[in-house]
Amino acid sequence: MAVESHRFDVVVVGHGVAGMCAALTAHQQGASVCVLERAPKEDRGGNTRWTEAFWRMKSHEEVADDLEDQLAERTGGYLEPELVHSMNRSSETWPGYLRAMSFPDPELISMFAEQAPPTLAWLEDQGLRFDFLPIHQIVQSFPKLAPVGGGLQIVESLVEKLEADDVPIYYRTTARGLIQDGDGAVIGVDAVERRNKPMQFRGRAVILACGGYEGNPEMMTHYIGRNAVNVRPVARGGYYNKGEGIRMALDIGAAPAGEYGNFHAEPIDPRASDPEPAVMVFPYGILVNKHGQRFIDESPGPVDRTYEPICYRLLNEDDGIAYIICDNKLKDVPNYQRAIRSEVPPITADSIGALANELGIPGDALQETVTLYNAACPADGEFKPEEVDGLATRGLQPRKSNWARALDRPPFRAWPMTVSNVFTFGGLKVNTKAQVLNSDGEVIPGLYAAGEVVGIYYRYYTGATSVMRGATFGRIAGRDAAQLQAP
Ligand SMILES: Cc1cc2nc3c(=O)[nH]c(=O)nc-3n(C[C@H](O)[C@H](O)[C@H](O)COP(=O)(O)OP(=O)(O)OC[C@H]3O[C@@H](n4cnc5c(N)ncnc54)[C@H](O)[C@@H]3O)c2cc1C
Repeated sequence: MAVESHRFDVVVVGHGVAGMCAALTAHQQGASVCVLERAPKEDRGGNTRWTEAFWRMKSHEEVADDLEDQLAERTGGYLEPELVHSMNRSSETWPGYLRAMSFPDPELISMFAEQAPPTLAWLEDQGLRFDFLPIHQIVQSFPKLAPVGGGLQIVESLVEKLEADDVPIYYRTTARGLIQDGDGAVIGVDAVERRNKPMQFRGRAVILACGGYEGNPEMMTHYIGRNAVNVRPVARGGYYNKGEGIRMALDIGAAPAGEYGNFHAEPIDPRASDPEPAVMVFPYGILVNKHGQRFIDESPGPVDRTYEPICYRLLNEDDGIAYIICDNKLKDVPNYQRAIRSEVPPITADSIGALANELGIPGDALQETVTLYNAACPADGEFKPEEVDGLATRGLQPRKSNWARALDRPPFRAWPMTVSNVFTFGGLKVNTKAQVLNSDGEVIPGLYAAGEVVGIYYRYYTGATSVMRGATFGRIAGRDAAQLQAP
């Protein structure tokens, strides 16, 4: 029996910010568009559905001053100086291996920084409102705008427009592979719907906007290693992102980009089921592993810059779990509850020994850790919880660089802390039109990528840029794909 087949100008895979921006843009340009979404309608929207969706912008018209430097500085590996030199010329003159190389491409970063503000303006034209909204981190290091209503509002506002114009959205439909013509152009996708029924969606262009591999244990283990077993997606949307978009493009020769063995990590309370149950109060206490020992400086700087490196270290501790230990002086931190998003109350006790007992970690070890830490806290100096106060321990390894105050006022409280996966870094290499490049640096005709499928991050995440990346690359992909002429 012939496989059911549908034809459009542009086939968009994914219903998050990247997919919605791509689909609506292509539709507004006059192309016939469809969207494939693996989730059921009530759970549509991937990671975007669950995010507050902060954008690294200092005003509605300007990105944060450090955006380009942050992305560029976190280069993958140690680039050859000669290669860095050749990047001063336009990428059209670069050798193919350089165009295909996995590194933060300066042209792409500049385009991203340039196009983010007009993308935000376009979203406002679609009815969204952006503002400097409160965040769950007490000390911040860069400005952040967010849409009122978060990522869910982005998804719902844009899909409402698509639905109003009868743009077809195929729910519970999972893309599995790309279809190419004899010239190597991508002309559609193979997909399955419910009961594993195969379907085909053909088009002049395919836009892959179907997220990273945070929901795929096989790819997580393959790229990140055995510690991946202790990492779960930060919210339910991540379970839908199983890396097919990346894999199906790699299968036809696309160039990989972004650091495959890494992901945006955020500390969470593993006992909680609510989305993003982050507990960001550890800079005001200490972190101990399951043996009751400190293993890292809990507060080297503003928490929005330091929580991710701390997570990476935590992954190497036994079972990937730590405990945040605070005393009752946590109450001196104004609005400290804002930094606790777990609905599960902390474990409390009137002594450190009793707390250790409740946590199931060795009491003697925890007591010794706290005694040594308390002795190393400065006797003078002003505690300033809302700024980096330099109140550091003396003579302690590892040192605690800020907000170091003795843990001596009961009741003591503790939260378990594990590492969650916000999204993975490995993706595809694209050019400034969001066209996917092959491993020789050539455009794969008809194939575009947007959002988490585009690999731009290395070493650490440049905070509050992933929704921006989804929207910006989605817009660009939608615009270019709509203009593709039929072969
Ligand atoms: C709790 C939380 C907080 C966050 N906070 C921020 C923040 O403040 N700022 C920021 O910039 N980023 C933040 N992020 C990250 C950011 O939200 C995501 O990286 C971004 O929204 C991803 O957009 P996307 O469109 O690429 O992917 P997604 O929004 O994940 O959408 C992918 C879509 O593809 C679908 N899909 C997957 N595979 C297939 C397939 N094979 N076939 C068909 N459909 C498929 C999924 O169901 C989903 O609809 C946060 C994420 C979470 C979860």
